Amino acid sequence: MRSNHRELKKRAWAANLEIAKRGLAIYNFGNASAFDPEVGLVAIKPSGVAYQDLSVEDMIVLDLEGKIVEGRLRPSSDTRTHLMLFREMRGIGGVVHTHSTYATGWAQAAMPIPILGTTHADYLDEDVPCTELMSAEATAGDYEAETGVQILDCFRGRDPSRTPMVLVAGHGAFTWGKSAEQAVHHAVVLEEIARMAFVTRAIAPAAARLPEHLVRKHFDRKHGADAYYGQGERGRASDGERSRRRAGATKRQRPSRNGRPEEI
Ligand SMILES: [Zn+2]
Repeated sequence: MRSNHRELKKRAWAANLEIAKRGLAIYNFGNASAFDPEVGLVAIKPSGVAYQDLSVEDMIVLDLEGKIVEGRLRPSSDTRTHLMLFREMRGIGGVVHTHSTYATGWAQAAMPIPILGTTHADYLDEDVPCTELMSAEATAGDYEAETGVQILDCFRGRDPSRTPMVLVAGHGAFTWGKSAEQAVHHAVVLEEIARMAFVTRAIAPAAARLPEHLVRKHFDRKHGADAYYGQGERGRASDGERSRRRAGATKRQRPSRNGRPEEI
């Protein structure tokens, strides 16, 4: 049968293969999706199919309400989380979910990943946020949709185009981007900065956050108003939002009285 959505399915398929290739998932853990805002459709991995067996034809195409438009298999069990992020986070074209080891380690500790170095600051100018643990009530409800709610709650007052990743407490990581390809890139980066932060805190448990001037230098040269690194054209926050966030970031870096950096 000829597909009307081959390009979209191909993007989702390639992103899913990349998850496995980059060592972010074993067996059929994890999933990636691609969204085409022009037609309002999402392509996502089918549920329970191992990466080596995936073909472009296996990808499922749905609308944002979850109605299947094309595909013979059942979509990933996390589909409702992906759809909620596409509905609520304007401008994203791809979502990735993994249980990659180091990122999930921080998620299981229910701790944000502190911004300790310039690799982290090249991608976001705050700690990698971590959601609250899901309540028993929410878990008993529509679990995958509630996971989306957890993420959106955590992003109240945050700009998802500046912070393209989140840890879901006790569970794993979600990342996103302008495309499925960029969402996978962010998943790889998240795993690396999670690993670096783990190593840093293992060597020096009281290691302080990167000073604000270095955070600003690295983040702004890629994403700020006067970005000069690469093609950096990710979504900009308003001036008010920027200064509010800057004030917040300064506060986060202040060491507490016992000399340890404060957690948020
Ligand atoms: Zn999961």
